[in-house]
Amino acid sequence: MKLFVDRLTPTPQREVFEASPGWWRERADSPQEFEYEIPKPFRFEIDVHKVGADVIIEGEVSGEIEMQCGRCLARYRQALREEFRLVAEEASGRTPPDPEGEASLSRDGLCLIDEIESGWFQGSVIQLDGLFGEVLAGAIPLHPICREDCKGLCPQCGVSWNDASCDCTPPEQASERPNPFAALAQLKDKIADENSDA
Ligand SMILES: [Zn+2]
Ligand SMILES: [Zn+2]
Repeated sequence: MKLFVDRLTPTPQREVFEASPGWWRERADSPQEFEYEIPKPFRFEIDVHKVGADVIIEGEVSGEIEMQCGRCLARYRQALREEFRLVAEEASGRTPPDPEGEASLSRDGLCLIDEIESGWFQGSVIQLDGLFGEVLAGAIPLHPICREDCKGLCPQCGVSWNDASCDCTPPEQASERPNPFAALAQLKDKIADENSDA
């Protein structure tokens, strides 16, 4: 997924890239990040243009992932859509402030300086994979919920309250404390019994 800097003009050009599920899996740091399935490729649609020496990339990622709801544990399809805009200045021999940025500038011809909003580029080819990876990471929900009003599971019998109801005691009643006066009365009786035994 590349841009050729020499071909960019002041007029925005539309470019469309597809990123396979495998591309995203390879980018992840650890396999446990993948508690979801990716049924189809992600689509990155961007408009690119130059303003002076700067490269402006405006676009949107769209896709779908199949996740598990954190409340009711059901699998569901989550639609992803996230807009982004990056203004990349020419690095012009400057060194990025962090080693990671330095590595990506020499490897990809692009590094991000302030989140995904600004960055530096160098050379005639810009690799977009790093930028797209950051955009996608921001688009995937950290706490997936199948729907706003998901009722979750009954903590006692495990039935999904989205599909059914149950006769379990509501948690407020179950956790109600025994009456302290009743306990005191029991203790009095016990003492009375012990005294009468003596
Ligand atoms: Zn749910
Ligand atoms: Zn229940």
